[in-house]
Amino acid sequence: MKLYLLKLGEISLKGGNRHTFEKILRDNIREKLREYETRIDYQKGRFFLHVSDDADEGKIIKALETTFGLVGFARAYECDKEEEKLWALIDEMLEKTEFENKGTFKIDARREDKSFPLRSYDIAVKAAEIVARHFPSISVDLKNPDYTLHIEVRQKIYVYSEGYKAPGGLPVGSAGKGLLLLSGGIDSPVAAYLAAKRGLRLDFLYFHAYPYTSDEALEKVKKLASLVAPYTGHARLFVVPFTDGQLRIKEKAYEDETTLMFRASMMILANKIAKKTGAKALVTGESLSQVASQTLSAMAFTDSMSEMLVIRPLVTYDKEEIISLARKIGTYETSILPYEDCCVIFSPKHPLTNPEKDVMEEHFNKLEMEEEIDKAIGNIRSFRYGPNGEETSD
Ligand code: ATP
Ligand code: MG
Repeated sequence: MKLYLLKLGEISLKGGNRHTFEKILRDNIREKLREYETRIDYQKGRFFLHVSDDADEGKIIKALETTFGLVGFARAYECDKEEEKLWALIDEMLEKTEFENKGTFKIDARREDKSFPLRSYDIAVKAAEIVARHFPSISVDLKNPDYTLHIEVRQKIYVYSEGYKAPGGLPVGSAGKGLLLLSGGIDSPVAAYLAAKRGLRLDFLYFHAYPYTSDEALEKVKKLASLVAPYTGHARLFVVPFTDGQLRIKEKAYEDETTLMFRASMMILANKIAKKTGAKALVTGESLSQVASQTLSAMAFTDSMSEMLVIRPLVTYDKEEIISLARKIGTYETSILPYEDCCVIFSPKHPLTNPEKDVMEEHFNKLEMEEEIDKAIGNIRSFRYGPNGEETSD
């Protein structure tokens, strides 16, 4: 089997309930690699992941790189605790290593098991000789090496070199479940990433004002859901048709209040759907003062329309910071495709930026939105995504 050494992040600092976090992380990794045979052992702050030999290396790397709770991982090789076996293993590994015959290296040897007869220093010296035999032009640099070869003597001996970075955070599901309001924009996929990073499992909710928003806009949201799902774990996307609701708002509400009235309806709908899915919080991509509906008083009003906690991971983020995260997680290029998530006919020319909560609530009640909200709930469509982002049948 192929072996990977996985480094756990914040979980290692957890006290009594560390095991609960570890179990969730282990299940999440298994779920992502479920098409292969896997075994995961735990030893002192590390997972040892064994995956069947036929497994696709690229898929394993993609799966681990998007797994919250891990800070890094490396392909590793193991042998029994016998000197000769160790030297043979290093030989074999150097045959297929990514080292080049130039630059500098260092050996980082650790002997956790003190019953092994060679000290760390002895292991390092002998291993360095083997490296020098394979690569005569490479030299030792203990401070700032180009390559590091790690050797750890534990229950077995493990040898590994350069590793990959993983995103840190806490395993998805360890903080419960939330419902993300996903639009086709730049912000909400990034909000999903940040909420999932703190352990929240997410389903997605999209308000689709067909035909004012096109089929392409829906396809774009589906694409974003599939890009975010590797981070959030398996997820459902609920598509709520709310065109009639929006038309009612446009007809009955004061023009400068239409956006706020729409957002109030979104909150009520999202609460109802969240309850059905077992979600305990809503997540949005709002950022303070980014647009009229994201001023303090506007957000205070929309909050008042939600029984559930509304988490806004981006509330203090600049657009530049959001964009750079969107690029990092790979959603940016899709988010900037030109299909608008809401058409100009629903956007007031001069939206209210300083609404009074009580007045807004009174105005909202006068719109009598209940029937439209229930109708929208009755017409929800849903899509399902697996933990590697693949769309699966619902
Ligand atoms: P984004 O870039 O995420 O679209 P935005 O800056 O365009 O955000 P708004 O359109 O005011 O801001 O939306 C703020 C938040 O409300 C979004 O981040 C998202 O969470 C939610 N939202 C907006 N439109 C929709 C929609 N059609 N369906 C679901 N959620 C939405
Ligand atoms: Mg938007």
